[in-house]
Amino acid sequence: GSTIGVLGGGQLGRMLALSGRAMGYRFITLDPTPDAPCGQVADEQLVAAYDNLEAARELANKSDVITYEFENVDAGVTELLMKETYVPQGSKLLYVTQHRLREKRAIEATGVKVAPYREIDSVAALQDAVQAFGMPCVLKTAMGGYDGKGQWVIRSYEEIPEAYETLAKANTELVLEQFIHFDKEISVIAARSPRGEVKVFAPAENVHVDNILHLSIVPARVSHEITKRAEELAIRIAEGLEIVGLIAVEMFLTPDGELFVNELAPRPHNSGHYTMEACHTSQFEQHLRAICNLPLGSTELMTPVVMVNLLGEHVEPILHWMKLQANKLADSADNKFNGIIPKIHLYGKHEAKHKRKMGHINLLTKDLDLALEWVEQMGIWSSRSK
Ligand code: ATP
Ligand code: MG
Ligand code: MG
Repeated sequence: GSTIGVLGGGQLGRMLALSGRAMGYRFITLDPTPDAPCGQVADEQLVAAYDNLEAARELANKSDVITYEFENVDAGVTELLMKETYVPQGSKLLYVTQHRLREKRAIEATGVKVAPYREIDSVAALQDAVQAFGMPCVLKTAMGGYDGKGQWVIRSYEEIPEAYETLAKANTELVLEQFIHFDKEISVIAARSPRGEVKVFAPAENVHVDNILHLSIVPARVSHEITKRAEELAIRIAEGLEIVGLIAVEMFLTPDGELFVNELAPRPHNSGHYTMEACHTSQFEQHLRAICNLPLGSTELMTPVVMVNLLGEHVEPILHWMKLQANKLADSADNKFNGIIPKIHLYGKHEAKHKRKMGHINLLTKDLDLALEWVEQMGIWSSRSK
């Protein structure tokens, strides 16, 4: 079998490796943390910084194919890997998706809408743009942000200088976005192979709490027409940007039925974890099929599903629930939650820190509302921290 090298050792890499080993591939991972989630299940783990060229060279020499589980890959490393081995996803996609301004321009070039935005390079420019867009609006660092880090929602003129100075410390361009008063956030994951085959998974309806994905509801509770449009838009981006592998497309749906793309992720995405049990092919298998130029698998949704992230603070209640389950075995004949099939995934992280993603649960169900009630009853319903 071939060896797949994974840049990054987090849970996305872990689930990729778990899926790929069933397909006969070997995995080698590069990550600065020993005992990282992906390293635990890979055949071999290189422990070094992501921008360590020596380690990257070793990864290249030991791998037939290279992929990554995050987009902030160092440009020098990408160049080296491209030269030394096969990186089917290429370097252009990373270059585009690791920078919000480049990403927005690339999306617009495919004919798809993003929220109105402006590049910001001074306090004066920010004041100007806030005036033009109205408040609230969102200032973001162009590079390096995730889980809402590197963002500032501007609600008054007084906070403009502080917002600018705080984010400018990140030493990257800044972008101001108009605030979209969305009805729903949805995401669509598309896969494209080098031979040009494209497939999409069903749109997920995403609920964020404190900017961290809390749950995904699938199918998204939107009209058939919007589902179709969201899928078409993701296909358009996958084809327009000549993606190889997965592309996750996050979108805002407005009350009058408009879709704006928020951002892209050129990799498996948290909102696609539902595919692990709810689809014939998981996003991880699909990514591997795409980068290895195999025929793509069926993306058919076999059952409605709610995916809930297990953050550090949710581990206690879930362990408690598992103990109860183990103890009461038979007497659940009248339990209204009987129709729900919970599938638990844990990432092998040892420290259950607040807000840290420790795992997720896929609730397979015929009744989405009942699954949401289950989440609430289990005590894993996230609430805002302030
Ligand atoms: P991720 O972890 O998804 O990579 P991120 O840090 O890159 O997050 P975004 O996805 O850009 O950040 O924003 C996080 C969340 O903040 C969005 O899911 C959305 O709820 C809200 N948000 C971001 N931009 C806007 C906007 N222009 N209008 C309204 N809400 C927004
Ligand atoms: Mg992001
Ligand atoms: Mg996002």
